[in-house]
Amino acid sequence: MTARRILSGMRSTNPRLHIGNYEGALRNWVELQNEGYEMFCMVADYHALTTMYEDAKEIAKNNLEVAKDFVAGGIDPEKAAIFIQSHVPEHAELHLLFSMITPLGWLERVPTYKEKQDDMGTAEREPYGLLGYPVLQTADILLYKPYGVPVGRDQAPHLEIGNDIGQRFNRLYGQDVFPVFKYMIPQDENRAKLPGLDMRKMSKSYDNCIYLSDTEDETAKKIKSAYTTPSKIKMTDPGIPEGCAVCQYLKLYSPNWEAQWQEDRDGLRGCSANKKECTEAVNEYLRPIRQRRAELDDATITEILRDGAERARAVASATLAEVKAAMGWN
Ligand code: ATP
Ligand code: MG
Repeated sequence: MTARRILSGMRSTNPRLHIGNYEGALRNWVELQNEGYEMFCMVADYHALTTMYEDAKEIAKNNLEVAKDFVAGGIDPEKAAIFIQSHVPEHAELHLLFSMITPLGWLERVPTYKEKQDDMGTAEREPYGLLGYPVLQTADILLYKPYGVPVGRDQAPHLEIGNDIGQRFNRLYGQDVFPVFKYMIPQDENRAKLPGLDMRKMSKSYDNCIYLSDTEDETAKKIKSAYTTPSKIKMTDPGIPEGCAVCQYLKLYSPNWEAQWQEDRDGLRGCSANKKECTEAVNEYLRPIRQRRAELDDATITEILRDGAERARAVASATLAEVKAAMGWN
């Protein structure tokens, strides 16, 4: 078992990552990388297909852009393997094997499954793969036998199933192939589930995001129309910072947030002052990420992904061989 390996991923449902992806996951990836963990950072294109199968070409384009955000956010391709899920076919094969040993009831109970089902609109549009999402995710994770998986809070139910499937495999085939991995979810609740501009979870699919690569003007415009305390019309009306998107971002990015929240509550400051100061704080925080991203081109990132897939495959194929040996299929 490798004590210091980490695996995590992001779906390529959009060309750009948002500050929720960064706060919930990417920021921790960078910290773990800098602490010396061996990182496997995956662009999850198969997972994107579960809800976007009509737009397969889009996903292929998004893959490169998401990988650019990994690097812009601080992942160092010299240290970490950055790769596209479908470039490592072992993910698909282990998914298939796991799909044979996973009880259906475990999957039907996953809360995100019900949400995603609703998002699909009609039952006709809902693919088989949507139900199997956590099984594929388990294959992604366990191929690397990681010490931990750094993700946002929404992923917790999937990770639980992941350990359950791994332990079930070990029991069924009488061998300790898979270790139990840790969930690495930010302590700060705001980072674990960052609210979007409309106070729902910030999500690529909801169009309620501040993207890492938005321009400063786009950021200003979005914050200007963000959700604030509905009953705060005049400056002197008391605000409820806990329920206000702008105040949530101030808490993360503004060093003066405590004073700003108090004045908001006491009716000593208005929403427009909050929005102006929030925009400045967010833009300042994102400036180095945006600069690094502007310098990345397709050729460089393609090379990084090729190298990353090779490194990922070396580990994934060794695990898959162990899996088959445990099943007596070697
Ligand atoms: P989609 O809407 O396509 O599912 P998403 O924005 O939810 O996109 P994912 O690719 O599903 O992003 O998630 C990538 C990582 O970012 C996961 O670790 C997830 O937990 C984390 N994450 C996503 N949204 C948030 C958020 N609002 N706050 C904190 N972490 C988040
Ligand atoms: Mg998601």
